Order: sequence, then C-alpha cells, then structure tokens
Amino acid sequence: MASITIKEDSCKGCEMCVNACPKHLIELNKEKINAKGYHPARMTDQSQCIGCKSCAIMCPDVCITVER
Ligand code: SF4
Ligand code: SF4
Repeated sequence: MASITIKEDSCKGCEMCVNACPKHLIELNKEKINAKGYHPARMTDQSQCIGCKSCAIMCPDVCITVER
C-alpha cells in the first residue's frame, strides 16, 4: 500500500495536489492554519492511495513525499 506525507508548514494551500490526485484523496484542512497562514493540504484516505506521485510532482513547494 502506498502512503503520502505532507509537510504541513511548507504548504501554501494552492490546491495543485488536490486537483492532481486521480483518486481525489487530498483536500485543504479548513480547520487548521499553518505557520504560513494557509489552510494546509491533508490526506483523506491513505488506504486508497495508488502511489502514482501526481500530487508530489505537482506541488510547487515540494511538500509531499510518496512511499510505496
Ligand atoms: S500518490 Fe497519487 S493517488 Fe496517492 S495521494 Fe498522490 S496523487 Fe493521489
Ligand atoms: S500542491 Fe503543495 S503547496 Fe499546494 S496545496 Fe498541495 S501540498 Fe500545499
């Protein structure tokens, strides 16, 4: 099973990863504000991740790592 890690405090809430995920597994966490003042991205269902790395490739700030 694949999994991703998001560096929340580096995230600028641009939603590139949200739109890149073919399984629609990433969303912005509206309940949280990170060190930069943005709602950070969060994973919604790790068990559904296929490890395609689209999210990590799209992130302009290299906040996401994928393990598979
Ligand atoms: S690796 Fe692929 S399936 Fe997993 S969260 Fe990223 S874009 Fe979605
Ligand atoms: S693409 Fe990167 S910076 Fe943009 S919301 Fe996703 S994790 Fe945050």
